[in-house]
Amino acid sequence: MSRSPEVTTLQDQLGGVVLVEGDEDYDRARRVWNAMVDRRPRLIVRCTGPDDVVSAIRYAREHDLELGIRCGGHSIVGHAIPDDGLVVDLTPMNQVTVDPARRRAWVEGGALLGALDQAGEPHGLATTAGNVSHTGVGGLTLGGGMGWLARQHGLTCDNVLSFEVVTADGRIVRASETEHPDLYWGLRGGGGNFGVVTTFEFQLHPIVDPTVQALLTFPLDRAADAFRGWRELALTAPRQATPTAWLGDVDGVPQVVLGFVWVGPLTGYDELLASLRSIGRPLAEQVRRSSYLELQQQDDYDLEAPAQRRYWKGQYCTELPDDAIAAFLGRGTADGTGAGLPYASFQVYGGAIADVPDEATAFSQRDTFVEFVAAARWTDPAEDEERIAAARRYGAAMAPFASGVYVNALTDEGAAGVQQAYGSAKLVRLQALKDTWDPDNVFHLNHNIAPTSAAAVS
Ligand SMILES: Cc1cc2nc3c(=O)[nH]c(=O)nc-3n(C[C@H](O)[C@H](O)[C@H](O)COP(=O)(O)OP(=O)(O)OC[C@H]3O[C@@H](n4cnc5c(N)ncnc54)[C@H](O)[C@@H]3O)c2cc1C
Repeated sequence: MSRSPEVTTLQDQLGGVVLVEGDEDYDRARRVWNAMVDRRPRLIVRCTGPDDVVSAIRYAREHDLELGIRCGGHSIVGHAIPDDGLVVDLTPMNQVTVDPARRRAWVEGGALLGALDQAGEPHGLATTAGNVSHTGVGGLTLGGGMGWLARQHGLTCDNVLSFEVVTADGRIVRASETEHPDLYWGLRGGGGNFGVVTTFEFQLHPIVDPTVQALLTFPLDRAADAFRGWRELALTAPRQATPTAWLGDVDGVPQVVLGFVWVGPLTGYDELLASLRSIGRPLAEQVRRSSYLELQQQDDYDLEAPAQRRYWKGQYCTELPDDAIAAFLGRGTADGTGAGLPYASFQVYGGAIADVPDEATAFSQRDTFVEFVAAARWTDPAEDEERIAAARRYGAAMAPFASGVYVNALTDEGAAGVQQAYGSAKLVRLQALKDTWDPDNVFHLNHNIAPTSAAAVS
């Protein structure tokens, strides 16, 4: 496609490149993790620094183009890629700099979690990051950031010391406890609503290898008793442990995997393993030792591989009564079995996540016990309707036990989901912040906090 004089002028201002349809890299740059997202932006601006971001935002505003912000491209609904809009593609901004003496990392706004993990590793340092290394630091951190270190060191957003941000009106500002503290509050959980983060400054923590995963596999029809035992273990587990539960089909047979992931000094590990072994007689036991980096990458290219069709339903639960366990095992069907059902998981919160007062950050629901996610994946577009319906049925079966939802697990819930993620009181404060920092709702392709002057678009 030929370039207009305006696009040529934009290109002349940039360190990076502008891609339009027909350019060699255009198709690769518009692709995201979920293969269901197949949109064609008018422009993809591959930014190399904050000044490029400023130019891209100005251009989008002047030409009335919808603006998508892309880091790892793992928004499940593909918020980063607007049809006929402009993508601020941060992926060239992927540098991570570590100061081991001060235990700090400066991470550019387009970096993936793997880059952060790998930069800390030679120094024996890390900070809380998600469990799949091709996820973006940007979206994950701004929504909260749950990972294997969170029960010891807090969510990813709790470990941000400062942000460098390009605002909707094209300024470059810093947000920290002492600089624009209101913005600093909102960026820790409020998603991409308030600006484009070009650098995150993180607190790092010492990491000791090996990590351990202890997993017991049960057949679906014998899992309920063991599940109740796992729940008791999860309520009292040390902070180095993140208890997990998983249900999915292995070679067409539904299986339940109960256990925990352990990262950190092994004090208390033997006792927890003994407790796990006491919950029931499994079909199989696995105790897997690996380095922290291996742990962070283990699901990258199997369960969570890119280029498949995906749909999720998630929620938080502050409690897990027996009926919730039964609903989890039921998978939204009469007997918990059938073709094309999603796999589902619980991941336990608590520990350092709950130490932070709820009002300290935009992230909400720090009293969560477990996060539930039902995740459908498939490849044939003909199955779209059936797969999405199955995930929704599973979500509906768990809904009576929901205390809220993680904003980064929302898909197509719209304003009702945003309300569930933050609650009314937080939303009032977030909306006031939006009025200050983005009154025209320039950043609305996200789980949108609408300013008082505009209706939510998503
Ligand atoms: C395979 C997979 C595994 C996951 N695992 C975890 C996990 O372990 N823990 C967890 O907490 N979450 C997890 N998530 C959820 C994840 O946090 C969200 O999907 C998140 O939005 C992904 O961010 P991204 O940068 O990769 O996505 P993108 O699609 O690039 O960005 C999503 C949105 O974030 C905003 N955004 C991104 N970067 C910036 C930036 N620099 N400045 C301003 N706004 C920005 C924009 O609004 C954008 O639309 C996972 C998701 C997937 C698909």
